[in-house]
Amino acid sequence: MGIDIDRARADTPGCARVAHFNNAGAALPPRPVIDAVDRHLALEAMTGGYEAYEQASAAVGRFYDAVAGLLGADPDEIAYVENATRAWDMAFYAIPFRRGDRILTTTSEYASNGIAYRQVARARGVRVAVVPDDADGQISLEALEAELAEGDVRLVSLNHVPTHNGLVNPAAEVGRLTRAAGALFLLDACQSVGQLAVDVREIGCDMLSATGRKFLRGPRGTGLLYVRRDVLRTLEPPFLDLHSATWTAPEEYVVRDDARRFETWERYVAGQIGLGVAADYAAALGIAAIEERVTTLAAALRDELAARPGVRVLDRGVRRSGIVTFTVDGHEAADVKLALRERGVNVSVTSGQQRFDPRGGVSAVRASVHYYNTEDEMERLLRALPRPA
Ligand SMILES: *Cc1c(COP(=O)(O)O)cnc(C)c1O
Repeated sequence: MGIDIDRARADTPGCARVAHFNNAGAALPPRPVIDAVDRHLALEAMTGGYEAYEQASAAVGRFYDAVAGLLGADPDEIAYVENATRAWDMAFYAIPFRRGDRILTTTSEYASNGIAYRQVARARGVRVAVVPDDADGQISLEALEAELAEGDVRLVSLNHVPTHNGLVNPAAEVGRLTRAAGALFLLDACQSVGQLAVDVREIGCDMLSATGRKFLRGPRGTGLLYVRRDVLRTLEPPFLDLHSATWTAPEEYVVRDDARRFETWERYVAGQIGLGVAADYAAALGIAAIEERVTTLAAALRDELAARPGVRVLDRGVRRSGIVTFTVDGHEAADVKLALRERGVNVSVTSGQQRFDPRGGVSAVRASVHYYNTEDEMERLLRALPRPA
């Protein structure tokens, strides 16, 4: 079953105003998400925040079921966190690293994660190794296997879809190799959840982080963390509060035994409700149908771009996502972005902060496609491109 695009667009107020190809930055939210957030903020204003929370407890609870359903997890393995960075941090800094432990990562690693490795390397004597790419630009499974065989690997840390390239890393294959080697597997799924089918059991990850505002179309300032039940109790969060733990005696506390040990008591409740609605919204459309539409549109856009003289498509990988990256000869990526913005087309520019990536310093235009984009909008984007110089 395909997606009813007219209906999806009618349900998305932003579609009437802009051709939005910055879905890897922040997607346009659908009406049910906007309404759920607005309604809860209004309720807080009219009845008081605590009183509103009591009335909304079912909607808050729905968040866990909705996200678990989307990811093939159980609700007690899901935590609500304010963004993907903190969700990833809560899992990463909870790992009881010992001196000499090794972390394996990829050339496409996200800058914030790379900084965290440096911090833990300095503080705890952990070593970090970057697994090279294969000929297609994704993580080399052969090289990963060889690194795992060398031993001392405590953690394999992978991004499913990098922020600055259209490739999709082979997460399930990495999961199998990592599991066989007895290491932990942390998946940064920030750019894949909401556009691709992501099943934690199929992938075999121990921990997964994602954000609300990107392909999931949730509110800004929201994120989520999955932690597999079997490893939960081995991970003591770097920060605790009276929600994640109970102060049982002056010198004792007990940490919760579900994934909510990674949460804080205080939170953006309207955002949590909205993110649950966004997860349900994606599931109702069907994540397989979303993936099919997104990857088909993105492939068409790459073909059109590649056919233009002076335009270079940079995406690598065997399998590709809705992220399309390119350069236009003679134009800075930032200028291309501005030229498009003047014609009502949103794209973004990759930051060039991928220090492990030999090609990462190149700044490029990033046009990230969602299912509500159309062929007409892609035409608009192509027509608005500056002439190569
Ligand atoms: C955006 C992004 C993050 C960070 O997500 P936030 O919600 O901004 O904290 C992490 N990893 C990848 C690959 C991303 O693209």
